[in-house]
Amino acid sequence: MLFCLAPNTPKFEIFKLLNEELLHFLEQSVNTNAFCRALLTQNDIGKACWGNGPTRAKYRGLFNSLQAAGNDTKLQLFEAMRDNQDLQLLFAAPQRNLFDFMSEPCFTALKTLCTHLYCSTKGLDAVIAAGCSDIKAHFNAYRAQAVNGNICKACGMEKLAPFRAEVPDGEQWRADYDHQLCKSKYPIFAVHPDNLIPLCDVCNQDAKKAKDLFKHKNGTERLAFYPYTEGAKDLIDIVIDNLRDPEPTITVNWNTQDAALRDKLKTWDEVYEIRSRVEGQFRSLEAIIGDELRPRNSAHLVSRISDEARPHNIDTLKRKEWAFWHQKLFRQMQKIGEPDIEAFWARQEFTQNQAASGADFILNG
Ligand SMILES: [Zn+2]
Repeated sequence: MLFCLAPNTPKFEIFKLLNEELLHFLEQSVNTNAFCRALLTQNDIGKACWGNGPTRAKYRGLFNSLQAAGNDTKLQLFEAMRDNQDLQLLFAAPQRNLFDFMSEPCFTALKTLCTHLYCSTKGLDAVIAAGCSDIKAHFNAYRAQAVNGNICKACGMEKLAPFRAEVPDGEQWRADYDHQLCKSKYPIFAVHPDNLIPLCDVCNQDAKKAKDLFKHKNGTERLAFYPYTEGAKDLIDIVIDNLRDPEPTITVNWNTQDAALRDKLKTWDEVYEIRSRVEGQFRSLEAIIGDELRPRNSAHLVSRISDEARPHNIDTLKRKEWAFWHQKLFRQMQKIGEPDIEAFWARQEFTQNQAASGADFILNG
């Protein structure tokens, strides 16, 4: 994450209940030899899961696979889920091979059930009644300005979802929830309330997909920021090279030498494609200055840069796309100093004047 989540981030009750139900089921399975009602709780969520044919069928599918695999597998799966409920501890010491003991059919049945709980069961009327609110209510509570705000915590570049005037809360658009630990590789966290975070579409759908936070594509191990307590925002530098050249280059660097933090920054960057998105957005410094600062002359430009180099307050960062990144950029320009900024602007004006007189020449012959 660029920004860590607010301490008052609400937990979604339905995820909490579905997660407890799954854990209860795995525990009961250890000493039960036939699929039966007693595998689920007697409370409302247990009734809702049992009463829904497709959900019950997925529970049955997992039970039958576990039964075929034997008691050791049942016990190990229960223990794997029970012993890893604290995600902060898991992020501090990742368990990367949690399911190595499971056969392929068993793991597939587990994924099928957990995916179904997330995709379908959570939206059943009886489940919503048991949790007392649906996911839209949770999303609205999550993105309230006094909580996390409407800017994606992973990138700071996009809104989670636009607000529409005169539309009731329950009908506002919402962002999709990202499984930090993706459900295809870590199915037991598919409905864990701490594993699900609303992110912008670019982060969730374009960049992250099913990437593994704890493993590189080539299988080597890595670490990741725990979203509730860790973020990248104080570990980033924007570097501007060759401001006096026709095409200054802007890059994102890490300002820490701490090996574990650098590993987490690298993971964050690879998962959400942060550097390439920022450097892509900042590919034309001239365009950014024109769009964001609208300078009248070089003295005005210097004064506008010093305005925009001031750090934003937290409320702006929770409301405005790119605010964090633009402030970093203008702060860096301010550090470079007036002579280079004035030289940069003089060259821009010269180029614009050249272009204008060229256009006049073409138009007027
Ligand atoms: Zn994002």
